[in-house]
Amino acid sequence: MRIAVAHLYPDYLNIYADRGNIAVLTRRAALRGHALHVTGVEPGDPLDPSAFDLLYVGGGQDREQALIAPDLARRGPAIAAAVQAGTAALAVCGGYQLLGRGYRGRDGSWMPGAGVLPLETVAGEQRLIGDVLLEADLGGGVTIPVAGFENHAGRTLLDRGATPLGRVLAGHGNDGTSGFEGCRVGSAIGTYLHGPLLPRNPELADWLLCRALEHAGAPGELEPLSDELERLAHAVSAGRARSRGGR
Ligand code: GLN
Repeated sequence: MRIAVAHLYPDYLNIYADRGNIAVLTRRAALRGHALHVTGVEPGDPLDPSAFDLLYVGGGQDREQALIAPDLARRGPAIAAAVQAGTAALAVCGGYQLLGRGYRGRDGSWMPGAGVLPLETVAGEQRLIGDVLLEADLGGGVTIPVAGFENHAGRTLLDRGATPLGRVLAGHGNDGTSGFEGCRVGSAIGTYLHGPLLPRNPELADWLLCRALEHAGAPGELEPLSDELERLAHAVSAGRARSRGGR
């Protein structure tokens, strides 16, 4: 099966090697006989989000975010419609913030967001940094531990009734106080976790691949992989977060 992925702003948003997430999806798809076709989308490039099975946005510093924010905001209604129709998405940190309604950065300027996720973000005084462990709820009774690394000034507040990606077991999460991390709308996930995220969270990678395959017209289970290194990487990351303690 061909899985069409749009990678938004790869030249601008790629902090902590976030593009490693794409490498993981490509490899895990290939091992199951599927081919990921990745299209990079930079400001001004044409994009029909509904033509893609998965959208990906990485993280970045305020400066890079400000450069792409107006372009992403313009694409917001089309991206929201695609997500409503089942396109999967993964947005990390700076990309996560800008899939919400907007982000007020450290210098006080407002960056408009795409309005795809029900949330807003405002930069605080101190950065929230360190390893994170959460219990992610992917819907349908599926809960998995997810580990990663966060480094953000933004405090993200979810709208009332919004669904977080999960509950923080150790680390800061969305704002350091709510106990929530990330946000999920259908098959679209936003999260602060870098690292990159997917090499150490293979179950989350496969969940995204399954959602993308459903959208591509090939629903079904993925054959399990051995994931020995991935499990070790997850354990190291989760252990670091646990030793750091609760919020
Ligand atoms: N610039 C944003 C913040 O500091 C996002 C940072 C990031 O992507 N790591 O909150």
